[in-house]
Amino acid sequence: MRIGILALQGDVPEHRTAFARLTTPDAVSLVRSPAELEPVDVLAMPGGESTTISRLLDETHLRAPLTERLQGGLPVLATCAGLILLSREIEIVPNQRDPVPIPMLDVRVRRNDYGRQRESFEGEVHLEGLRGTPFPGVFIRAPRILAHGPSAVPIAWRGEEVVGVRSGPIWGLTFHPELSGDDRLLRVFLDSLTAH
Ligand code: GLN
Repeated sequence: MRIGILALQGDVPEHRTAFARLTTPDAVSLVRSPAELEPVDVLAMPGGESTTISRLLDETHLRAPLTERLQGGLPVLATCAGLILLSREIEIVPNQRDPVPIPMLDVRVRRNDYGRQRESFEGEVHLEGLRGTPFPGVFIRAPRILAHGPSAVPIAWRGEEVVGVRSGPIWGLTFHPELSGDDRLLRVFLDSLTAH
């Protein structure tokens, strides 16, 4: 299984290292162009700045081939800005440049919704299929999932709040599993693909 990391901006090295720990370093490659997207079987869409990544998707001509691969069933682990970029609806912020999503997940999100003082925090997350202690969710200027439609099935919660959904093989999380030092979530994600 070839794992690609969308490497336009954001916490790309952290994703690469985390996935390499679970597979082998040569199974993980960076995706910066349509040619680099072609051979991958699974894609990670890292956190970062969704407006910047959205712009770079156009500049690198990745948007059209990525959309086509997603519609063809490419499995994705999308975190934070990655989730924003796959949302059906991003709440518009007046006077701000907004990212243009590839709407694969039936969710409505609001960017940076946990307030300025608490731009980053760690909190316990309960993930479906994860045994043992709760998962340490790292939230960095995280978006909030305001609503989710029937095709976006909740898979992760912080208290009552949904912080992760999946739609078939596409997972979207508001937090950063690659920064937690806990590989269980990535393992559950990869295992769900081989069980497919
Ligand atoms: N606040 C960022 C955005 O709106 C996302 C933050 C992140 O990916 N950690 O794009």
